Amino acid sequence: MDVGEERRAQIADIRQGVRALCAKYKEGYWSDLDSDKAYPTEFVRELTEAGYLGALIPEQYGGSGLGVLEAGAILEEVSRSGGNPGACHAQMYVMGALVRHGNDAQKEQFLPEIASGKIRLQSFGITEPTTGTDTTSLKTTAERHGDHFVVNGQKVWISRVEHSDLMLLLARTKSKSEITRRSDGLTAFIVDLKQAHGNGLTIRPIDAMINHHSCELFFDNLEIPAENIVGEQDNGFHVVLDGMNAERILIASECIGDGRYFIDKATRYAKERVVFDRPIGQNQGIQFPIARCYAEIEAAASMVERAAILFDEGRHCGAESNIAKMLASEASWKAGDMCMQTHGGYSFAREYHIERKFRETRLYQIAPISTNLILSYIGEHVLGLPRSF
Ligand SMILES: Cc1cc2nc3c(=O)[nH]c(=O)nc-3n(C[C@H](O)[C@H](O)[C@H](O)COP(=O)(O)OP(=O)(O)OC[C@H]3O[C@@H](n4cnc5c(N)ncnc54)[C@H](O)[C@@H]3O)c2cc1C
Repeated sequence: MDVGEERRAQIADIRQGVRALCAKYKEGYWSDLDSDKAYPTEFVRELTEAGYLGALIPEQYGGSGLGVLEAGAILEEVSRSGGNPGACHAQMYVMGALVRHGNDAQKEQFLPEIASGKIRLQSFGITEPTTGTDTTSLKTTAERHGDHFVVNGQKVWISRVEHSDLMLLLARTKSKSEITRRSDGLTAFIVDLKQAHGNGLTIRPIDAMINHHSCELFFDNLEIPAENIVGEQDNGFHVVLDGMNAERILIASECIGDGRYFIDKATRYAKERVVFDRPIGQNQGIQFPIARCYAEIEAAASMVERAAILFDEGRHCGAESNIAKMLASEASWKAGDMCMQTHGGYSFAREYHIERKFRETRLYQIAPISTNLILSYIGEHVLGLPRSF
């Protein structure tokens, strides 16, 4: 699959620009944030002002009007530099719901301010404690009362909610007994977080393994104006689903960045570290795992590119996006393990930054969708095997 010379050259320029920006935010910046559980406010501001975080916002609303292929390259470069794009990636993948399903008034109200950095749309509220991966069984309800909805229920692992102005929320507007298709009866809403906090929304941060700013949310009669529905009422699952392929491709791109980060780091160290009077990289027991990880990351990167091109052409890409996410997340994890092994004991020293990236990249075999669920998608939708749940 060819993207054409002009587009490839533009992507090369974007990569160079992101690398230059990231060079100002050294690994120490990210590890300090990790220790303090703090948010990279300056980095996100700069990434937004440079136009990178608005990559998927159409130009008419002040964005860069780029594709998922370009957006993926941006996130990949942030990861590869040692940074953690998890602090801001949702702004890219939540965008599709608003751009494709939002009405004109919503787009005019929100998109220019998101593109300029005045407000952030960094939060995406789906997962619930009792239903987990079984999204269509979610229990948080939104009941209509005249011109607004009243939300009650609970969400868990909702990331960046304390660092975002808006959240895309999925809630049940019809009970399961009222629907025939299990994906019906859910509605997507834009929640104004500043207004909601303390007025029906309680936020409790989760003490987690990585600095992802994930929280539990408790809704107790939170009121949301009816005009904040994104797409059609009761059809919210499809609003969200539409963006899920973009999300998988973008997360896969981050994993490619992580994988390349680990391979760069291990290669450098294997050339420099001398034990038994020779660089450890001269031993094939060290060299081959690095070479194998390189091959696996390159193969996964080809699948990520293929999925992104299909997505940007508006073609069906469910299988490719899922496969890309699975391969990239597994390859980056394996590269992390290899990088730890290559560095021996020093990999445990925080100042080498490997353990932080190792923790961060582990997430992507679980969120936003776990490997088992991807295998189940391939089994059922690609291979036509019997449905299991
Ligand atoms: C750091 C972090 C950030 C997150 N951020 C967000 C966010 O911003 N917004 C949001 O909505 N969610 C977020 N999530 C939630 C994430 O999407 C879920 O954790 C993930 O989808 C898995 O759901 P679960 O944890 O409930 O696992 P469960 O659904 O309980 O599954 C547990 C395990 O069982 C497996 N499993 C379940 N059913 C089957 C089956 N039928 N066949 C085979 N295996 C099965 C799963 O694959 C998984 O490995 C985040 C999670 C984390 C850890």
